[in-house]
Amino acid sequence: MRRLFGTSGIRGVVNEDLTPELFLDMGLTLATQLGNSGIVVVGKDPRTSSEMLESALISGLISGGCDVIRLGVVPTPVVGFAVRSLGASAGAMITASHNPPEYNGLKFWDSKGMAYSPALEEEVEELYFRRRTKPVAWDEIGKVEEVDVLPRYLEEITRSVSLKKGYTVVLDCGNGAGAIVTPHLLRRLGCKVITINSQLDGHFPGRGLEPTPENLQELCGVIRSVGADIGLAHDGDADRIAAVDERGRVAEPDKLLALMAAHQVRKKGDTVVTTVDASNVVDESVKAKGGKVVRTKVGDVNVASEVKKRGAIFGGEPSGAWIFPHVHLAPDGPLAAAKILELLSSTGKTLSELLDALPTYPTLRERIACPNEKKTSAMKKFEALATKEFRDVADVLTIDGIRLSLRDGGWLLVRPSGTEPYIRITAEGRTPKRAEEMLNSAVGILKKIIEHKARS
Ligand code: MG
Repeated sequence: MRRLFGTSGIRGVVNEDLTPELFLDMGLTLATQLGNSGIVVVGKDPRTSSEMLESALISGLISGGCDVIRLGVVPTPVVGFAVRSLGASAGAMITASHNPPEYNGLKFWDSKGMAYSPALEEEVEELYFRRRTKPVAWDEIGKVEEVDVLPRYLEEITRSVSLKKGYTVVLDCGNGAGAIVTPHLLRRLGCKVITINSQLDGHFPGRGLEPTPENLQELCGVIRSVGADIGLAHDGDADRIAAVDERGRVAEPDKLLALMAAHQVRKKGDTVVTTVDASNVVDESVKAKGGKVVRTKVGDVNVASEVKKRGAIFGGEPSGAWIFPHVHLAPDGPLAAAKILELLSSTGKTLSELLDALPTYPTLRERIACPNEKKTSAMKKFEALATKEFRDVADVLTIDGIRLSLRDGGWLLVRPSGTEPYIRITAEGRTPKRAEEMLNSAVGILKKIIEHKARS
């Protein structure tokens, strides 16, 4: 079957792949899936196209008999929160997260405030492609109401975090949706907040929306010049967090994740969920506190469903999408920002002290060209050959690509790209030399497999 949804909802370039017609259809399709009744909450990020797409989506929803609660511009996690808090049947967020301004997208939420599972997305696709959508009669058309859910959201997040003191924070929202929540949240928690790039602007003039070290250089500079305690940053829809320490260094995402995961462990056996691409520093930090780590496929939906299934205390990806299930099951950037401050407060340490106490494991990445139709068989052959080539394999995980854990503490992940004709390799070693050896071996095996196929 043809697909609409990728790893994080529907994404595309506005008025090319992503048209008002598609959003009208998606509204009617979602309403049909919900049985032509119920309430759907709708949020959007500040992109120039969001209002156009929101109008089309809402038309579709009410023509299908659903009532709509319009939240306006909100971070993505607020939609997940609002579904549960307002007792809605589903939610829809119009956003393209960290993509450039010409993009937009759509992400659905279920009645539990969790992002749509692949199974629910397939139901939507089935209804859409088979044209099984159903509008209602004139007297059953839904109603639209506007609700400001932010006071309720801020109240709940504030309640779930406690700080012993206020910090001086420099906050970079990248002109995205986080700007209407996180500055207020951190001030409520008693912090002094200096904002940069924190006025909503769908042209995103401030910086690239992905909170990478390259995009956070301005933030690093401001921290140094004002002598702040910490810097925090979101992606465009604020479901992710990045941090910069008081010395102006961007925190390595895996180390930041390891700190938070370990901090959430309260008692022996507490479970933390992370993805196959996260560093072993996460496992070590969590185990040192008596907790255990369960790994899932890459993608926040996978993390959320595993957290729910295992009753985990925390779930997080190195991308900075973190889930605190005692509050809700949506990756939540503003909540993550507050939790990082709580971590500083409860340990009494600076972020640089906490980060520098963790070991650094060198990680190398490479991608090998491989046509899409050959990926499956190449991966099968790789598994067979690699388990022979690497003699000290302690564990093999095949939930998302192939992850080999080696006895010396290193690991290797080989994953076909979901969207591009590549197979990606990640190698983490205890030393740079070991990481390089592992990467070279894997590259050698893969090249042999792919080139052999090309000839045969
Ligand atoms: Mg995002």
